[in-house]
Amino acid sequence: MRTFEDTYRHKGLRRQLVDVVRKKGITDERVLEAILQLPRHFFMDSAFDKIAYEDRAFPIGEGQTISQPYTVAYQSQLMEVKPFDKVLEIGTGSAYQACVLAEMGAQVYTIERQKKLFDINKQFPLLRKYPALKFFYGDGFEGLPTYAPFDKVIVTAAAPFIPPRLVEQLKPGGRMVIPVGEGQVQRMLRLTRQAEGPATQEIFDNFSFVPMIEGKHS
Ligand code: SAH
Repeated sequence: MRTFEDTYRHKGLRRQLVDVVRKKGITDERVLEAILQLPRHFFMDSAFDKIAYEDRAFPIGEGQTISQPYTVAYQSQLMEVKPFDKVLEIGTGSAYQACVLAEMGAQVYTIERQKKLFDINKQFPLLRKYPALKFFYGDGFEGLPTYAPFDKVIVTAAAPFIPPRLVEQLKPGGRMVIPVGEGQVQRMLRLTRQAEGPATQEIFDNFSFVPMIEGKHS
């Protein structure tokens, strides 16, 4: 069961979480502010009320996880989100990452391949606060050609390779933040699409995500 009550105690725990994430090296104040504002415990079963503000990933059902706050902050910082940026997210999961981006002023299009996780978010009252957040049930390898091009793409599952369709759906100068690797550990990459020629690539730290899987799951 989930409860949607945000108390002073929760806010205090959130402030501590922001301090932890800041000490680990996150400097983008807009990312930290979004984490401070968002009641992460709303995204999890109420039994895990306090754990919601520890800096760790947590199961959300269907074998999936809500990413660790530090990981969410790290990817959000690499995105360099500007207000009204049109962002495509692959791997909605709990919708926490999507809400962080929406809280930062982005227009977020998020895709989830698992029907049950997609359906849960239809009954999640907090999401009504973010009209700029749109949910899709589908395969992230395909992206959303109808809504392309995007300023930014964020992949929140371990990609075995860089999906070519996602690169195609970036605007020239657009960026994609994506953990790539097939083993336990993936490398965080940032691609920048050029007006012409191949995308440039920057390499960042190692992370561990659940796998990005092809096709929809009913
Ligand atoms: N962004 C999420 C973290 C989700 S974990 C959050 O903030 O909670 C990764 C998610 O990616 C899982 O829900 C998984 O089902 C989904 N996923 C994996 N492969 C996918 C694909 N090809 N297309 C869309 N979603 C995918």
